[in-house]
Amino acid sequence: MAYSNAVREQFRNTLKEVEEAGLYKDERYICSEQGVEIVVEYPRGSKPIKVLNFCANNYLGLSSHPDVTAAARKGLEERGYGMSSVRFICGTQDLHNSLEKRIAEYLGKEDAILFSSCFDANAAIFEVLFDEKDVLLNDRLIHASLIDGIRLCSAQRDSYKNADVGHLEKKLEMWKPRARNICIVTDGVFSMDGILAPLDKIADLADRYGAMVLVDDSHATGFIGKTGRGTPEHFGVMDRIDIITTTLGKALGGASGGVVAGPREVTEMLRNRGRPYLFSNAVPPPIISAALRVIDLVSETTKLRDKLEWNARYFREKMDAAGFRLVPGETPIVPVMFGDAKLANDMARELLQEGIYVIGFSHPVVPMGKARIRVQLSAAHEKEHIDKAVDAFVKVGKKLGVIR
Ligand SMILES: *Cc1c(COP(=O)(O)O)cnc(C)c1O
Repeated sequence: MAYSNAVREQFRNTLKEVEEAGLYKDERYICSEQGVEIVVEYPRGSKPIKVLNFCANNYLGLSSHPDVTAAARKGLEERGYGMSSVRFICGTQDLHNSLEKRIAEYLGKEDAILFSSCFDANAAIFEVLFDEKDVLLNDRLIHASLIDGIRLCSAQRDSYKNADVGHLEKKLEMWKPRARNICIVTDGVFSMDGILAPLDKIADLADRYGAMVLVDDSHATGFIGKTGRGTPEHFGVMDRIDIITTTLGKALGGASGGVVAGPREVTEMLRNRGRPYLFSNAVPPPIISAALRVIDLVSETTKLRDKLEWNARYFREKMDAAGFRLVPGETPIVPVMFGDAKLANDMARELLQEGIYVIGFSHPVVPMGKARIRVQLSAAHEKEHIDKAVDAFVKVGKKLGVIR
């Protein structure tokens, strides 16, 4: 027993620091399925209340969609619960291969490979493809999992200011003579601001400097772009982005699973050398079966992403007209800015009492003085839901002196 009182004390002090910095993660219990109308027990131990959810990544409303749960049930009944193996031993069903092919086709890439999560996909990819001779140039606001993946890799690294192609070009110019391969690494949609990476300009620079481009499109796959194929489609550069990583845990059903889509050699190298792929269990059959149905749904029609687009625009217009300060954009991630952290948290708490579930974000998740409530729209929201949310924002906003 080395877990002494001194160690316990040390860990408790760390936790106290987390709490004092306002960073303690207080989980709220949802006592229903995930969806637009949920039942939340908050504060813990209080009577659960019905609220409208405006903070899920359930962009297309598929988390509890009847077609998706039916497909998961079918997968469970026909193919069982788990694989009890990694993919290369005895963990690959024909359906895993079908799903990988379908996703590759959907994203317009030669091949795709599944991981347990996009976090794992991002942890795997850099170490496999790059080494000391190469340079990774990343946007400064990339997701934590890309940062960790880059850390695991021996390539040289540098970064450019968020979505700043001028700065990126300077870095490309500087690194070009010193690198075998350069790979530009960015999120497609930056989740805190809901803004898009300028992939058209990034693709131009990549061509000019002979760099590869890797885009993590987790907050875009399924709904950004005319047919929902993501940020590359939005900018008309689907064939000019080399590698896409994305998740099944957001718009595409919201369960779990990550994807790398790209050239066949890349997926083959990952199958042979990607550590989170080789040493972690296969994605279970119910999820594979449901994800196949999800890809059908998003391929057959643009109905859901069209409705989501309408919802996001409608919410943005109404909030703008009400006098709230938003980060302008066109995604269903709508940051409502309050500046002060306490104000953002007070707003969120009062909004919950009004039946609207949203969360305040403050430093260090976002820059100091840029505290906000990040509202996320879903295709499962109806106009009445959005009206109710805006009414609640107006009521609480007036009460707290945010708007007049
Ligand atoms: C959510 C997210 C991930 C992690 O996805 P999981 O499949 O949940 O691990 C990775 N990258 C980005 C940009 C994300 O938004």
